[in-house]
Amino acid sequence: MIPYGRQNLNQADLDAVLDVLRSDWLTQGPANERFERAVATYCGAPHAVAVCNATAALHLACCALELGPGDALWTSPNTFVASANCALYCGAGVDFVDIDPRTYNLSAEALAEKLAQAERGGRLPKVVVPVHFGGQPCELEAIARLARRYGFRVIEDAAHAIGARYRGEPIGAGNHSDLSVFSFHPVKIVTSGEGGMVLTRHAALHERVALLRSHGITRAPAQMTGESEGGWYYQQVALGYNYRMTDMQAALGASQMTRIEEFLKRRHALAERYDRALAELPVQVPWRAPERYSAFHLYVIRLRLKEIGRSRAEVYEAMRRAGIGVNVHYIPVHLQPHFRKLGFKPGDYPEAEAYYAQALTLPLHAGLTEPEQDRVVAVLRDAVR
Ligand SMILES: *Cc1c(COP(=O)(O)O)cnc(C)c1O
Repeated sequence: MIPYGRQNLNQADLDAVLDVLRSDWLTQGPANERFERAVATYCGAPHAVAVCNATAALHLACCALELGPGDALWTSPNTFVASANCALYCGAGVDFVDIDPRTYNLSAEALAEKLAQAERGGRLPKVVVPVHFGGQPCELEAIARLARRYGFRVIEDAAHAIGARYRGEPIGAGNHSDLSVFSFHPVKIVTSGEGGMVLTRHAALHERVALLRSHGITRAPAQMTGESEGGWYYQQVALGYNYRMTDMQAALGASQMTRIEEFLKRRHALAERYDRALAELPVQVPWRAPERYSAFHLYVIRLRLKEIGRSRAEVYEAMRRAGIGVNVHYIPVHLQPHFRKLGFKPGDYPEAEAYYAQALTLPLHAGLTEPEQDRVVAVLRDAVR
C-alpha cells in the first residue's frame, strides 16, 4: 500500500535519538531546549514550548487564555477533532464557522457574518481557532482585524503548516494571533514520533504554558508565594498537567528540523506534478494563491461526482484495492456523535458537508517516488473514468 503520509527518517535522525538514550537525560532536558530553539528560530517567534502532542498543546493554549465555563471557542468544521476538543477540556462551549469552498479553511467572510449575529445576541466567542488545512494558510490578516474589532483571541492550529508562509511570514511567527500550535505526529511535515509545540510572541503566555506543561510546579522564587525553604523546594502554583516531551522525541524533532526545507521542496515538486497530471481529469486540484505558500501536508482533490458517475466511496474502494492508500480529510467535526449530542446536525455547515462528500486525499510525503506517484495517477484515472 502506498500510504497517504509517512515519516522520512535518515541515519542522522536515528543517531540523534541514540545519543540521547546514552546520555543522562531522557525526559525533558537539553534536547527539548534545542528543538524549541530550532522551531522558534525557523518561524521567527521569540518563545516556544515543546509538549507531548498537539492536542495537549491546544489544551494548554486554551488554558493560557483562561478559556473556561461560560466561554465559547469557534473553529472550522473541516479539521481533526482535537481543534474543537480543547474547548471541551476547559469546560467551554464549541461552535463552528463554515469553510471557504476554495481553500477549505474557515471562511473569514462567514466568520464576519457569524460575529455580527453573535454580537446582537450577546454571545461572542472568547477564542477562535483557524486551522491551516492541508498546510494552506488561513486569511490571518482578516481574522486578526475581526479579533481586534470583536475582542476575541486567536490560536492558530498549525498542525499541518510548519514551513507554510502567509504574505512572506512563516506560520508560527505569530504576528496575527496570540498562540500557534504545531504537531509532530509521523504523518505531519516534521516528526518527533509524537509531539507538539506552542509558539507565541507574548512572554506572559509563554510563562503560563511552560508552567502548565509540568503540573503547575515552579522552582523559580519569583513565581512563588512566600520564601523558598531551600534548594529542594518547589511550589505548585496552578493546576497543571504532565504534558512534557521526552528528550528522545525532541532530539528526533531537532534533527528533522535541519531537513525541513528539503521536505517542503519535495512536497511542492510532487504537488506540482500532481497538478499537471490531473489537469485533464474530472477533479478539482488544490487552490493556489500567490501570497500564500502551503506546507502541502495534504494533497486533497475534490471529485466532480456528477461527471464521474460513481460515488466517492466507490472511487476510494477501487483505489484502496489497487494498493493506493487514499484517505479522507475530514469528516466534519460537528457530525461526530459526540458533537451531535451537543446539538449539531447535518445541514449546519453546508460548505464543509458538500466538500466532505467529494474530498479524497492522495498520497503525498517526502519519500514518495515519481513512479509511485505515476501509479497513483494511473489508478485514479481508471477509477474516475
Ligand atoms: C494532527 C492534528 C492535531 C493533533 O495533533 P497530535 O499531535 O496528534 O495531538 C490537531 N489538529 C489538527 C488539524 C491535526 O491534523
